[in-house]
Amino acid sequence: MTDRPKFVADDHLARLARLLRAVGYDTLWKNPISDREILRQSAGRTLLTRHVKLVRDGKPADFVLIAHDDVMDQLKQVAAEKQLTLQPDLFFTRCTACNGTLEPVEKSAVFDELPEHVRGTLDKFRQCPSCGKLYWEGSHTDRIREKLAAAGLMGE
Ligand SMILES: [Zn+2]
Repeated sequence: MTDRPKFVADDHLARLARLLRAVGYDTLWKNPISDREILRQSAGRTLLTRHVKLVRDGKPADFVLIAHDDVMDQLKQVAAEKQLTLQPDLFFTRCTACNGTLEPVEKSAVFDELPEHVRGTLDKFRQCPSCGKLYWEGSHTDRIREKLAAAGLMGE
């Protein structure tokens, strides 16, 4: 848990950044971002990029030069190169929108913000303290788990 790698993803890798956050990795992403700023942010993080020139000229300490277009292939490449083992108990602990760390929130406190179809069916909710976005288990999280499993990223 303490040695989990952190990432910063370049402007072309929005979907990968969101997916890494969804599976629990601290991942910075901003668009637009200058080469200078993303290199500065890569201190203590693994830079994920498709820009050969950024790696060649900027010489980041740690990087993965992403070779794929498909986001699951991109995640597979990062997992292989950084020897990541995804931990399902850390899934959906970060805000995919802003990288904040989600906190449990009482249903009664957010009831008015919930869509009709989850009000009556679900009881566990998490909220991003930074941007306020609400999260719950549902078809979206099931779909991500299925895709990860299909990509062979869920372990045994
Ligand atoms: Zn957020």
